Amino acid sequence: MTTDICLGFSGAIGNTPLIKIESLSAATGCTILGKAEFLNPGGSVKDRAALFMVLQAEKDGAIAPEGTIVEGTAGNTGIGLALVANAKGYRCVIVMPNNQSQEKIDLLRTLGAEVELVPPVPFSNPGNFYHVARDRAEGLENAFWANQFENMANSDAHYHTTGPEIWHQSGMTLDGIIMSSGTGGTIGGVTAYLKEQNSQIATYLIDPTGSGLYSFLTTGEFKAEGSSITEGIGINRETANFHRARLDGAFQGSDREVIEMAHYLLKHDGLFVGSSAALNAVGAVRLARQLGPGKVIATILCDGGGRYQSRMFNPEWLAEKGLTPTAQDLEFLG
Ligand code: PMP
Repeated sequence: MTTDICLGFSGAIGNTPLIKIESLSAATGCTILGKAEFLNPGGSVKDRAALFMVLQAEKDGAIAPEGTIVEGTAGNTGIGLALVANAKGYRCVIVMPNNQSQEKIDLLRTLGAEVELVPPVPFSNPGNFYHVARDRAEGLENAFWANQFENMANSDAHYHTTGPEIWHQSGMTLDGIIMSSGTGGTIGGVTAYLKEQNSQIATYLIDPTGSGLYSFLTTGEFKAEGSSITEGIGINRETANFHRARLDGAFQGSDREVIEMAHYLLKHDGLFVGSSAALNAVGAVRLARQLGPGKVIATILCDGGGRYQSRMFNPEWLAEKGLTPTAQDLEFLG
């Protein structure tokens, strides 16, 4: 007899639904699809990378039983790693910038991770969370630094799971895909896989303000202006995982568009998503307008809105930032 039972936490990662977003599809005349990564057991797209990095480390002998997983993360990779660590009997140490949402910090501690908060300083500063995490791993016995930015097991997760799932769930009829990038794991793995299936699929990045990827892809140089309320995305260097991406173009999205879209999706579609997912949906509409009606366009709904309730869905915080949503329809998209 065959069963449909998955093995523990790890077995529950992936195979998320691909949701047709009715409101955006109706507004654009395209079929807009959102890969519901917020339904992963740790609540985000990063569960996949966390699992693949730990499995690879076990295979390579980079971590032994009862060892410690160390990572620098804006939150979601840490949440995935903390849960994988519990399920596999490891200790987990997370170094993160202190400007991330309180929900994510509290959650990591609740899950059992040891959290070290550091000031949000540039990558060139040795106090950047990336370097501090490496230093912490070096100072511990039997510790594995996940290094999600350069560790190709990150994008492998998406090359072997997210990409194929989107391809098959969409009936192998995809015309375009667009998403933002943090480490570049998702965009690297997914676009590499999809271009191998059909090189005609239009592959795009949408970048928040304050990130240099848009300028890198359009001019060849990293140049960033402004900042963004988005979390987990945007970067000012080319990581090994991002280098794997096969991209045709790039757009930029503003904080106003992110907030309007997040509230729009909640109100019109019952989709409660975080800032990167909202930016990705902005990108999907932009790509739909560029490709024209009748096309099938996918994006990633990276995590849920509950992780940002005190910010993106808090009227006082929004008012303070001058981001109170007002739009009735998609006219807010520039
Ligand atoms: N959205 C959120 C909320 C994230 O935490 C991350 C990971 N930092 C991303 C998107 C980007 O994913 P990736 O690291 O695969 O580029």
